[in-house]
Amino acid sequence: MTSDFLSTPIKFLKGVGPEREKILKSELGISTYEDLLNHFPFRYIDRTKFYKVRELNENLPYVQLRGKITQVQLITQGKRRLVAAFEDEEGKKIELVWFQGLKWIQTKLQSNVEYIVFGKPQKFLSTFSIVHPEIDEATEENIKLARKLQPVYSSTSKLESKWLGSNGIWKLQRTLISQINNSIPETLSEEILKKNNLISREEAYKIIHLPDTPELMEKAVFRLKFEELFFIQLSMLQMKALRKKKYAGFCFRIIGNYFRDFYNHHLPFELTDAQKRVIKEIRTDMASGKQMNRLLQGDVGSGKTIVALLCMLIAIDNGFQTCIMAPTEILAQQHFKNFSTLLEKINLNVKLLSGSTKQKERKQIHEQLQSGELKIIVGTHALLEEDVKFRNLGLAIIDEQHKFGVAQRSRLWKKSKHENTSFTLPHILIMTATPIPRTLAMTLYGDLDVSVINELPPGRKPVKTYHSYNTLRPRVFQFMRQQIEKGRQIYVVFPMIEESEKLDYEFLMEGYERIRNEFPSPKYITGIVHGQMKNELREAQMKHFAEGKMHILVATTVIEVGVDVPNATVMVIESAERFGLSQLHQLRGRVGRGADESYCILLTGNNLSSEAQTRIQTMCRTHNGFEIAEVDMQLRGPGDIAGTRQSGLIETKIADIVKDSHTLHLARTVAGKILQSDPELSKPENGRILDRLNQIKREKTYWGRIS
Ligand code: ADP
Ligand code: MG
Repeated sequence: MTSDFLSTPIKFLKGVGPEREKILKSELGISTYEDLLNHFPFRYIDRTKFYKVRELNENLPYVQLRGKITQVQLITQGKRRLVAAFEDEEGKKIELVWFQGLKWIQTKLQSNVEYIVFGKPQKFLSTFSIVHPEIDEATEENIKLARKLQPVYSSTSKLESKWLGSNGIWKLQRTLISQINNSIPETLSEEILKKNNLISREEAYKIIHLPDTPELMEKAVFRLKFEELFFIQLSMLQMKALRKKKYAGFCFRIIGNYFRDFYNHHLPFELTDAQKRVIKEIRTDMASGKQMNRLLQGDVGSGKTIVALLCMLIAIDNGFQTCIMAPTEILAQQHFKNFSTLLEKINLNVKLLSGSTKQKERKQIHEQLQSGELKIIVGTHALLEEDVKFRNLGLAIIDEQHKFGVAQRSRLWKKSKHENTSFTLPHILIMTATPIPRTLAMTLYGDLDVSVINELPPGRKPVKTYHSYNTLRPRVFQFMRQQIEKGRQIYVVFPMIEESEKLDYEFLMEGYERIRNEFPSPKYITGIVHGQMKNELREAQMKHFAEGKMHILVATTVIEVGVDVPNATVMVIESAERFGLSQLHQLRGRVGRGADESYCILLTGNNLSSEAQTRIQTMCRTHNGFEIAEVDMQLRGPGDIAGTRQSGLIETKIADIVKDSHTLHLARTVAGKILQSDPELSKPENGRILDRLNQIKREKTYWGRIS
């Protein structure tokens, strides 16, 4: 038993010459036997049946027939074509038609030879025909092959030009499979195989490329998906366990005066049950003596900020410093303003550190953090800079996590200078408003604990969402005027997918001009913010709007995250078809923050792709962020959600993290049990698992890079 077989370079496979070797590598990234085996079919065509001509009908997607060619005719009238009469054993006839490769086909076709013909039947008058059928001699071997599910592989036109379309690839797979003989090492223990009714890895690879029956095919697919998900989950869970063991956390034992005072006397509103529950979860974590790594998920407007604040008070009560980091200057400022107002009441000092903090102030903040005098700091990336050092950072909170890279997050760990605690890390709380479907969260954040605020504060009215067309813009303007008369403020958002995109920029400016014409000053005050503006200018405009001194703010998605202006009640989104679902959801979350009825108007062109239609309809139908995230993931696949594409975290070969959630759960449970009984995977019966895990860790860097 050796895996040398799997690592054999593909050029050693019969049928792969230098040219094909090169193109397989460049088009599909295949350079070894293992790579080829891992190029899985994306569907199968059922060829288990031979049809009779009398059984044909036009609704059959493909049919397979056996019979002989009785006549061949080259027709030159009209479109040049070759027509062969094909007769089955009952003497019933159909026509086979070719428009290309006529000469070659003509020399190949023989009378008195039995053929297997495969293709889509079409009916013309009373005769069935198959255009460009697959045709093979009915040799014994071909009949055997024909009686199977035929895998379909993705290919490219470059590959097709080298006869490596789906069928060509299948042929290579068959050649390779014929050489497999105890060549593929097992990776799962006997116990797991038996308990979960899994076939061996070798069997699975053989069957998946050459299944006899749908049942076997499903067994092979299940085995390979399970294996893939199992090792992802195993490495996640192992990392989580390791971290808990390795890193002690500061133990926040007490609930002290700051927390109590604030909680009992200064809460601006009654907390929702969900908020209370989440605070309790976090509190328990931080008192456990282990480092907390928790993800706090809560839909837009669910009230994560107050949760963050209360957790920060716990840290302070226990004698520690705490920081909250936001992805943008605007957000950091907003938190700072909120926190200042709230904390004033309990006499706590808070400061803001961002890129625009003046040198003198910055120096002072640095000193106060290092001396421990300053307990709470709100900031942007500026908090990560080398010269920001804490005396004893106990809790770091990261808001709107998806805008931060993974590496940045772990840099926060290293900030504490607490004596005698060189191995103690601050607790980390990551807050995100981009809901992530549970299965995805399990894979993405499999090594984090998750808390969810699944409830909005009471009295929130759902934002009324409408779809309208560009051609009906005048009506939308009319509606905007009415709202302004009622004293409300309005966002009009334009797409700027790349902030540098020239066309987008022109479209935005055009739109801004239109708004200014429709809403002329001085009666109306309008403003604009976009990514190409100087920071100060942008902030000034935002500030104006936030203070209620502006009626309409025209913007790009720079306002997407977190901005809180309760008096803004209308969100008009131009070219809404160009936005992703989660973006639309985030944008809509900017309104509906006060007591007034709020509106979101999605403007689009008249011709929408079906995907765009689904997005718009979903927005009009639901406000549930998790539901929206599910649809989003169905539409786009998991890779794009929540910035995971950039981190390249989810790269599964065969399993689909959305659709295979059942297998995912199973794999996670099995992985958890193994680790529970054998945390180091040191028992002999788990040897294979350990070997494979180590191999994966050597080869791949993408699993569990989250830290
Ligand atoms: P997000 O989770 O999107 O960060 P915020 O923390 O900004 O949400 O809260 C959104 C708004 O809801 C804020 O104006 C906040 O003051 C308010 N809010 C939060 N929790 C409650 C509550 N329990 N009851 C009433 N209003 C609340
Ligand atoms: Mg927020």
